[in-house]
Amino acid sequence: MLRFQSCCRASVLHHFVSHYSVTKVDKPLEKVHHTKLFINNGWHNAVNGKTFPTVDPSTGKTIVQVAEADKDDVDLAVYAAKQAFKLGSPWRSMDASQRGQLLNRLAELIERDREYLASLETLDNGKPFSMSYNMDVGETIKIYRYFAGFADKCHGKTIPIDGNYFCYTRHEPVGVCGQIIPWNFPLVMQSWKLAPALATGNTVVMKVAEQTPLSGLYIASLIKEAGFPPGVVNILTGYGPTAGAAIARHMDVDKVAFTGSTKVGRLIQQAAGESNLKRVTLELGGKSPCIVLEDADLDQAVKQCHEALFFNMGQCCAAGSRTYVHESIYNEFLERSIERAKARRVGDPFELDTEHGPQIDKRQFDKIFDYIESGKKEGAKLVCGGVRHGDEGFFIKPTVFAEVQDNMRIAREEIFGPVQQIFKFKKIEEVINRANNSKYGLAAGVFTKDLDKAMHLTQVLQAGTVWVNTYNALGCQTPFGGYKESGNGRELGEDGLRAYTEVKCVTIKIPQKNS
Ligand code: ADP
Repeated sequence: MLRFQSCCRASVLHHFVSHYSVTKVDKPLEKVHHTKLFINNGWHNAVNGKTFPTVDPSTGKTIVQVAEADKDDVDLAVYAAKQAFKLGSPWRSMDASQRGQLLNRLAELIERDREYLASLETLDNGKPFSMSYNMDVGETIKIYRYFAGFADKCHGKTIPIDGNYFCYTRHEPVGVCGQIIPWNFPLVMQSWKLAPALATGNTVVMKVAEQTPLSGLYIASLIKEAGFPPGVVNILTGYGPTAGAAIARHMDVDKVAFTGSTKVGRLIQQAAGESNLKRVTLELGGKSPCIVLEDADLDQAVKQCHEALFFNMGQCCAAGSRTYVHESIYNEFLERSIERAKARRVGDPFELDTEHGPQIDKRQFDKIFDYIESGKKEGAKLVCGGVRHGDEGFFIKPTVFAEVQDNMRIAREEIFGPVQQIFKFKKIEEVINRANNSKYGLAAGVFTKDLDKAMHLTQVLQAGTVWVNTYNALGCQTPFGGYKESGNGRELGEDGLRAYTEVKCVTIKIPQKNS
């Protein structure tokens, strides 16, 4: 199981310190191998010849120029994916078990290049190397292996229909899947979408996020090396309103899977409705509550609520960004939370003991400061952080607000940054209503030693995932997705396969002996 928050710095330190005697990893600045579009197993410039810069968030400097896909490139990629999906193509003729073997081979290649991929992820995204290596790449490997195992296990049913018939269901691939992913976990988000789509026999046109194109392109090279036939996976780099929108509107894309903001999720669903009614799954924003009851183990609750928010620099859709604490323990909880936030090691993400890197880009950096200002203006008490760290890149010191009221912007909107809001409550029924009073419903955390209260809360909280006395404990085996405006559909686990198959019902008349 992946525990997002325990990204196990100790083990990576052990690996590198004992084997390489280093405390810092090199930036792979001279080692960016792929910057073009990956279509039909080949590398291509954009049709219009355009490129765009991808930026190192820890310095604000351009790493490299990358091809900028637009509608024409999407057309080429979709055409390749459609050809690869045709009946009789190498991919459609392949045994299901062989698809599983290809996914396992891909996992092996990622494992071979683990250190390089982790450093590429850190360069492009800014997350600490120890986290990229242990969590991001480690989890990516597990996800490909998990879904590889499902390739030949997507069974239908035999159904005891009334009458003299033999009736069964087949789970068939949907077709060409458009997949649009965000920048906060580039490799992991890519695997969440690619692995189930390929295990079930679909073909894919994926647009990676414009902020973090590099690791996704490197995976494309491994897909080719693993032996996937041409056109099965196509990876495009480019912007949302151009390349992303062209995927969402395309008449030959049969399904679109999107992870990103609720605002763009609406556009995707609208585009699907206005084009060919393609199937849509959405994993969107959140404003997830963590509820700390009077009897909770205070040490654990403080630690978990801290990681629930600050993990990945607060850039998680499931971030526990509303911490509700019972009034009887509020002051002590607040004091300890401030201590923890101040102790968080912010700095160069290539240093092995760094816990907290920069935000992804200038736009997010400015947006987070806008929220911090609004919190101050609306009367919340800034008790820690609230300022930038250093003088280059997009670092923000871990920030804590106390005395937050439910109607404030910082209490209602997704900040997607290292800003923790701590609220006070008196009664359980009161906190349940307040926790559920949000347009979002992605995740929730409950901290208590009382089993009855825990059971009650897990049932009434409106969220796709509820964690008890832990947070961010998710893995390839657990379904993940949102209630309300946090999206629809589930990814991961067996439930995650549903979005990638059509269920066909076949009914055959059984001839009667004497008729
Ligand atoms: P964020 O604000 O965190 O970058 P977005 O929802 O804007 O989140 O972006 C997530 C993904 O959606 C990215 O790959 C982005 O390029 C893409 N995207 C943005 N706008 C659109 C759009 N109008 N249509 C399709 N994809 C889009």
